[in-house]
Amino acid sequence: MPEHTAKRRMLVTGASGGIGGAIASALAMDGFDVALHYRSRRDAAETVAATIETATGERPRLLCFDVADRAATAAALGADLDAHGPFWGVICNAGIHADAPLPVMKPEAWDSVIRTNLDGFYNVVQPLVMPMVRARAGGRIVAISSIAGIAGNRGQANYAASKAGVIAAAKSVAQELAKRAITVNCVAPGLIETDMIAGAPLEELLKLIPMRRLGHPGEVAAAVAFLCSQGAAYITGQVLSVNGGML
Ligand code: NDP
Repeated sequence: MPEHTAKRRMLVTGASGGIGGAIASALAMDGFDVALHYRSRRDAAETVAATIETATGERPRLLCFDVADRAATAAALGADLDAHGPFWGVICNAGIHADAPLPVMKPEAWDSVIRTNLDGFYNVVQPLVMPMVRARAGGRIVAISSIAGIAGNRGQANYAASKAGVIAAAKSVAQELAKRAITVNCVAPGLIETDMIAGAPLEELLKLIPMRRLGHPGEVAAAVAFLCSQGAAYITGQVLSVNGGML
């Protein structure tokens, strides 16, 4: 276990999903005390917890809340902070998409994606920041954005807007927290092989990827783990793309 990460608490939201599970496992392997957040798939979160327990001997705690529900998120995080103290870092990974061209996009599709992906950043990070600052131990915040948040994507105005918003929020918070040695960065994946892209027209999409393959969740997790490492202590306000050369 690297000395610098010993027992530092990390929250990974959406750890029941493909990328979040891989991030949680990578951070646990790096020696962090990882808390696994999920919304509906407790079984998937339990599977990630069991894998981590097998590898490290310690079973991570599970936290359940809807990141789009501000009050529920504040209550769950407040209770966890009271019981276990501040987190050293948080990975804002939970997210959804609800695609449609804008002229036929239903209001619920716009609202649910913005509330989950963009409001979710505020709802999760805001309650955690002051305890991190007061701990005077530095820290890490990593938000999972998307190539759509950088370049836009047809049929994803809601998703792209939410992911661009997260980048702007992270860059702003990075400036606020820099003097506290708390770094704030984004990882922007391209097309990663998870449930989220089930049903996507892969043959067409592969033509857009210079590497001609999808990314693996572990390849996103490796970028997050780097940003959480001591070696990344001077990197803040940045967006690290993991996309097989798409941009
Ligand atoms: P998954 O669908 O596999 O996982 C999504 C995760 O988000 C699940 O753990 C889910 O929890 C959680 N989640 C969704 N909505 C909420 C909510 N309202 N409250 C709390 N948790 C919620 O997707 P990925 O692993 O692929 O995606 C992870 C992140 O990576 C997302 O932010 C996504 O936008 C981003 N991304 C993914 C890409 C890809 O190609 N896969 C590309 C670019 C970015 P549960 O299942 O328990 O309900």
